[in-house]
Amino acid sequence: GNPKRIVILGAGYGGLAAALRLQKKLRRGEAEVTLVNKHDYHTLTTHLHKSAAGTDHPDNARVDLKEMLNSRRTRLLKAEVQRLEPTERKVVTDRGVLRYDYLIAGLGSEPEMFGIPGLKEHALTIRSTNSVRLIRQHIRYMLAKYKTQPKRLDYLTFVVGGAGFTGTEFAGELADKMPELCRLFDVDPSLVRICSIEAGAAPLPPGMPRELVRYGMEKLTAKGVSFKLTTSIRECTPEGVRLSDGEFIPAGTVIWAAGVRGNRLLEEAGFETARGRVAVDPCLRSRQHREVFIVGDSALVLGPSGTPYPPTAQIAVQQGRYAADSLLAQLHGRRLPPFRYDHRGTVATLGRAEAIGVVGGRAVTGLLAYVLKLLADAGYLFTIGGLPLVLRKTVFRRS
Ligand code: FAD
Repeated sequence: GNPKRIVILGAGYGGLAAALRLQKKLRRGEAEVTLVNKHDYHTLTTHLHKSAAGTDHPDNARVDLKEMLNSRRTRLLKAEVQRLEPTERKVVTDRGVLRYDYLIAGLGSEPEMFGIPGLKEHALTIRSTNSVRLIRQHIRYMLAKYKTQPKRLDYLTFVVGGAGFTGTEFAGELADKMPELCRLFDVDPSLVRICSIEAGAAPLPPGMPRELVRYGMEKLTAKGVSFKLTTSIRECTPEGVRLSDGEFIPAGTVIWAAGVRGNRLLEEAGFETARGRVAVDPCLRSRQHREVFIVGDSALVLGPSGTPYPPTAQIAVQQGRYAADSLLAQLHGRRLPPFRYDHRGTVATLGRAEAIGVVGGRAVTGLLAYVLKLLADAGYLFTIGGLPLVLRKTVFRRS
């Protein structure tokens, strides 16, 4: 028959993994694969907290998609998806309409603001290489501005909303960068405040053992991060943030890192969602449209305990590969057993050479944890771009 049309939306962790798998395993003439992405590069989102704080160059978080894709096997379309029409099996982009027989949607997430007044207008978020360029410049601008108005300590106050993965990793990097920035701008480092505001009772990703959380908090506190737990941000203004305990923290910088929701395009298309994430069947397909796979942050997959897996790059990659394998199996008249997540571990960095985590069921801290994270990152780069990419993003990285 005619080759099947496979469309992949998003070249993030999930979408790229699916595309690379299909590129490797599809037989010639079996299907036409189109990968649609807003940009012509893949973003290493898990590195963005470093570019935001300024401990790494934003260009290091980009990987040219053309380098990884074989243009004869995968068509890359740089376009913005505007609408999904699953009943019609089509996708509308700013570069035209695409029709498909199978769709793999890996459009990622967007910040969840929980309707808190002023956040959208006045807070910054860590979500793309462009958004982190803004954060990086803003931090420097605040220090420079303080020099012209030395009474304005709010210019030296940095509020981080949310102490999950992103919030704590960012706070650690920022604390590490501050001494250098203070030297650069002639600012007294003792006047700088980095405040981490967390609604829950403990910082760091859920499920971290209590002694690791304590270790992490001690390390970050020693670097100059102060924590306010069981406290939420009620309002954000150009002058600062109002907290649930009534306190107002005057701050020139507010970074919102307290949660994500699935990409809005999916709920707008009529998929059943919870916080924007599509509840998929055990094979990662939409329950309403079986030819649509959802992978990554936009998919809601329940773990064995009945609670959803948190959105991570690690699960997104496995889901992308699974969706590709499942598609291949269907094309060959086979069926694949349901998706199973192989959780290899979780490590959160706390700035340079410091991290905490659980790997292979063992708690790890300090330099060892940090090195394990570096190895996992290198392992990922190797799977998408081989040794040349690993070297370019590690040894020969832009400083
Ligand atoms: P993404 O990787 O976000 O990819 C989505 C893609 O879709 C992007 O390329 C985007 O450009 C594209 N796209 C979106 N909308 C459109 C549109 N309308 N049209 C066209 N293209 C579009 N996870 C871990 O496992 N370990 C970590 O250590 C870790 N650290 C993190 C640190 C930070 C600072 C952050 C922000 C996240 C971290 N995460 C970590 C989470 C991880 O980054 C996400 O879970 C992961 O990126 C999700 O992959 P995805 O494929 O669903 O989406």
